[in-house]
Amino acid sequence: MKELIFLEPVVKKLIWGKEYWTVSAHESGDCLVKGGTFDGMHLSEVWRDHKEVFGVETEGEFPFIVKVIDARDPLSIQVHPDDEYANENENGAPGKTECWYVMDCDRDGSIIIGHNAKSRKEAEEMIAENRWDDFLREIPVKKGDFYQITPGTVHAIKQNTMIMEIQKNSDVTYRLYDYNRVRDGVARQLHVDKSLDVMMIPHKDADCYTNKVPGKLVSCRYYDVDRYDISGVRDFEKRDSFMIISVLDGEGGIDGRKIKAGESFIVSGGYGDFSIFGRLSIMVTRLPELYGGLEAGGTKMVCALGYADGTIIDQISFPTATPDESIPKIIDYFKGKDISALGIGSFGPVDVDPDSETYGTILDSPKLPWQHYPIKKVLEEALHVPIKIDSDVNGSCLGEMTFGCAKDLDNVGYVTVGTGIGAGMAVNGQLVHGMGHPEFGHILVSKLPGDDYSGKCPFHPTCFESLASGPAIEGRWGKKAADLSDRCEVWEMEADYIAQGLMAMVLTISPRKIILGGGVMHQLQLFPMIRKKLSEKLAGYIHTKELDDMDEYVVPASLSDDQGIMGAVQLGVLAGIESKANPVKAYYG
Ligand code: ADP
Ligand code: ZN
Repeated sequence: MKELIFLEPVVKKLIWGKEYWTVSAHESGDCLVKGGTFDGMHLSEVWRDHKEVFGVETEGEFPFIVKVIDARDPLSIQVHPDDEYANENENGAPGKTECWYVMDCDRDGSIIIGHNAKSRKEAEEMIAENRWDDFLREIPVKKGDFYQITPGTVHAIKQNTMIMEIQKNSDVTYRLYDYNRVRDGVARQLHVDKSLDVMMIPHKDADCYTNKVPGKLVSCRYYDVDRYDISGVRDFEKRDSFMIISVLDGEGGIDGRKIKAGESFIVSGGYGDFSIFGRLSIMVTRLPELYGGLEAGGTKMVCALGYADGTIIDQISFPTATPDESIPKIIDYFKGKDISALGIGSFGPVDVDPDSETYGTILDSPKLPWQHYPIKKVLEEALHVPIKIDSDVNGSCLGEMTFGCAKDLDNVGYVTVGTGIGAGMAVNGQLVHGMGHPEFGHILVSKLPGDDYSGKCPFHPTCFESLASGPAIEGRWGKKAADLSDRCEVWEMEADYIAQGLMAMVLTISPRKIILGGGVMHQLQLFPMIRKKLSEKLAGYIHTKELDDMDEYVVPASLSDDQGIMGAVQLGVLAGIESKANPVKAYYG
């Protein structure tokens, strides 16, 4: 359906200023449609009775509220719960996530995001003693700033600030402090205990999950928000689902309608191509795209659905059998889930060269039924979505680089020590590929005196995997690795081989951090031993600030063994971005 929906804002006069609910179907402020096919109807009615306008099959409430907040005085200090807490404590209500674009503020304006308490006890004391200046983290703000406010973030807008806010359709707010204000003799209710329950302690600023796409303000599981600065004309390509356009600054027009700062309107799903002209900045809000991730492991297949911010909303796993058995299960899982793209982290060897004719085909795998199986092509034909594939370990490395302990690092190594040994690596922010993917598990190591184990690798008797994988430990000592925890000599030897492997990695790709995952690394006593041996082996030959802090240099995987599946979903996100030639336009493709 081709329709622009303009709405009459609901105006709320509050103790501190005014709120304009410019797009809302919430019961406490349901906007009326102004003109067009649905003139005079409430947005909630259009949403309920005319789903074709929106082009989505979402159940439940209209997903967003867009507000302009015009604060003359400071707003109260508040914090929102997440879904889980709100569900339990607010009669099944959803939690709240919101984001703010600063449209205007004082030249020396400020905003409150976060607090300075290190523990709940300290927070309780600071609050009880009214030490608000010590407690609250007040930071400078300027026009054009953008903040994602996740549940648990203590926040407040200060005086003389105008904000465009996009939020989930939810209104659960806990008020922590209201500057002791009274109106008509009464103070507004505070919710100190609930605030303390949900508060993130210590505070951490939210990531904006922009995936390095120009103009992207935030992509999370609730919304996807982009900003465009238009001077002249800008074309937007048609999409199936609706979007909300909010004018942040300036004025212009769309299909004969004038639009100006502060206004928001809905572009129906299936509207077709359109152009916006003028001198203006706009914000475009959409439902986020859902991505699929497949971690194709030698022993099990993990399939998951997730968003660009790393949230996994559903996950299943089953043992890896033959392609005939496993592939239909995978297709079954993803079919009809409306994913935008799929990422695969696969056992290897697998062709990961996008320029190769056999891109996405399993190569000479020891798992015979999978040899030369074109897994990417088969899934593409069944699911009709863009797919990106990489080695399982590169996938885990990407997971840690996007969501985990290697965030924002340019050179990173991820080593798994499990049934096999493998490494994912990134150099200059890019996962390493060449003619193939790295096969780090098969570098040669020096066999230790007294080790008479013959080795597990059929190709190389003294490669890293041959001497240090889980099955190698079992082969050498005659017991499962997990049952050898208290045998010091086992882990002395294991730590030495691992340190030899890591040394080779330090000396070649110069990683800023090395992350160790896989079943064997559940033996946490290995970490201090590996760090010590790595330092000894490097023997002072190189000095960097990273190597000076070994405890932070060689670390366990940080995502509770979800680095692989989160990395696979992130490969899907990248597949989505890359499938569209112009990444900005891409979001409307
Ligand atoms: P895979 O490499 O097959 O994906 P894992 O990373 O779980 O799977 O590795 C399995 C290997 O790790 C097995 O050889 C197993 O013996 C070993 N392993 C699993 N759990 C432990 C543990 N807690 N301690 C030591 N070794 C373990
Ligand atoms: Zn080998």
